[in-house]
Amino acid sequence: MKFSLVAGTLKIMESTTKRLELTSHLVDLFKKTPSEIIANVVYLLQGKLRPDHEGVELGVAEKIAIRAISKSAGVPVKKIEHEYHEGGDLGQAASKVLEEKTQTTFLTQTITVERVYDTLYKIAELKGARSQDMKMKYISSLLNDASPSEAGFILKIITGSLRLGIADYTIMDALAIAFTGSKENREALEKAYNVSSDLGKVAAAVAKDGINAIKNFKVSVFSPVRPMLAERVKSAEEAREKMGSEFAAEYKLDGERVQLHILGEKIVLYSRSLENITNYYPDIVEKISKSLNAKQLILEAEAVAVNEDTGEFLAFQELMHRRRKYGIHKAVSQYPITVNFFDVMYVDGKSCLDLAYKERRKLLENIIREDSFAKLMPMTIVKTNNEVEDVLENAINTGCEGLMLKQLDLPYRAGARGSNWLKLKREYRNELGDSLDLVVIGAFFGRGRRTGRYGALLLATYDDQTDTFPSICKVGTGFTDENLDQFYQILSDKITLKKNPRINSGLEADVWFEPELVIEILASEITLSPIHKTAIDVIRKGSGLALRFPKFTGRIRFEKTPENATTDQEIISLYNGQKRVVQDERQNYI
Ligand code: ATP
Repeated sequence: MKFSLVAGTLKIMESTTKRLELTSHLVDLFKKTPSEIIANVVYLLQGKLRPDHEGVELGVAEKIAIRAISKSAGVPVKKIEHEYHEGGDLGQAASKVLEEKTQTTFLTQTITVERVYDTLYKIAELKGARSQDMKMKYISSLLNDASPSEAGFILKIITGSLRLGIADYTIMDALAIAFTGSKENREALEKAYNVSSDLGKVAAAVAKDGINAIKNFKVSVFSPVRPMLAERVKSAEEAREKMGSEFAAEYKLDGERVQLHILGEKIVLYSRSLENITNYYPDIVEKISKSLNAKQLILEAEAVAVNEDTGEFLAFQELMHRRRKYGIHKAVSQYPITVNFFDVMYVDGKSCLDLAYKERRKLLENIIREDSFAKLMPMTIVKTNNEVEDVLENAINTGCEGLMLKQLDLPYRAGARGSNWLKLKREYRNELGDSLDLVVIGAFFGRGRRTGRYGALLLATYDDQTDTFPSICKVGTGFTDENLDQFYQILSDKITLKKNPRINSGLEADVWFEPELVIEILASEITLSPIHKTAIDVIRKGSGLALRFPKFTGRIRFEKTPENATTDQEIISLYNGQKRVVQDERQNYI
């Protein structure tokens, strides 16, 4: 299939943000795509080569990409750098200089999607000292045969800057229309995606065998399931209103969520954002099999740092010492953990997702043989507010963050945040008090004691409707001197010359960053704001929402991707909830 078909669609799609139009262009493209390569076309549209959990990364530095353009276009590196700085987009810079060249030469080749994909895949596989030169040559060979516009998109994919504002669900809409004739089937596709986290695999199945292939889509080991998420509640009463008269109260441990995939001897671990984290937990890989009564499993657990002498749970930060490339074995012995199982998704060939919570829990109790390393998450069935309060008190006293409350009769809803699961933390019970996970998008230089470091950071929520990062606050409180040094170092890798187009902010930061780092923030209130862009126009025309008195909690959420940050929708519901509390209080007062 000609790559020009993909590039042509991308070009039209860049010119609109309207979801219906975007969908209809995608439908046209999918209908023209042979089913054998539809998975790869979907990955390319997502700006990747394989689903994230496989960790296939192109790893091409901008410098190398610029050298490749220079070689193909026969113009000096300086000229390309100049174009890049002017326009802020390397893809456009490449199109422009190659355009000038094509006016004097003739294209001899038509490049195909297969060739582009295979070459990019080879680039991703190159490792070692000489790999940078080889990468440069591969890119340049593609650019030599591509049209200027195609070259622009190839570069955007290579440098990770292809952002069309299409979220996964737009792609799913288009797949449903193209291959089942109806958008109604989107839900079935979404279900398949939620249990596989692989949109390419879903696309290939529906393109080949239509909706039946999707209905028979199975959970399988080594395809991570998108995790089920919880809503926040502020009190036992609120929980009982949502849950009814009887439900499970589990401890909410403050560690890292781990999804364990086990097939005989082979064990792979995935994080909350479905990144492969097996390397950080060699102790789980080594010890866990002897605690399990089955050979094929997908399980969920919270890995928590513990004090080996006293058995006490330690704070989440202790686990982060394991996030390192070298010396992991030393970190494992310095920071021991326990693995606390709370769910089972698959056992010996069968999915458990449709089983009710209480049946899954029973299965889990049969699967796990507890010892000093593998534990079952403590759970109590509760009926009254007092019982919830008692379990909460015990949980807090043993070092937990609070409770997870779960409906007894409901299935595991992969990828969904809903009221089947609720989280009740102690801190939610005062003021807004709720912690939010926000993306660092910019910074302001410090003065006085903070000279030479950042004095404040600009933070954003994630708007999953438009795939953008609108700003919500500037934060300068809660940082220790050590934090300030740490931020300066971590963020130096993320500085961009121009504001990333996915960032939406009315403030001019001193420096802009790639929206990647997620940090935890507490605030006293959510207010309307003329400057910030979170939920712009939703509550009031022309206004966004902002945080009052934001404060850094000391916690960098390395395990979250920016797309896992607090969403605009969550902020809107917190804002509305807060309004209700104020109204209730007023009524009491009157
Ligand atoms: P999200 O709700 O989006 O996961 P978060 O990680 O900030 O965001 P938390 O307030 O930390 O949300 O609550 C959910 C997390 O709590 C889970 O992802 C999991 O890591 C952890 N957790 C601890 N104990 C349990 C438990 N018993 N059941 C489920 N999750 C638990």
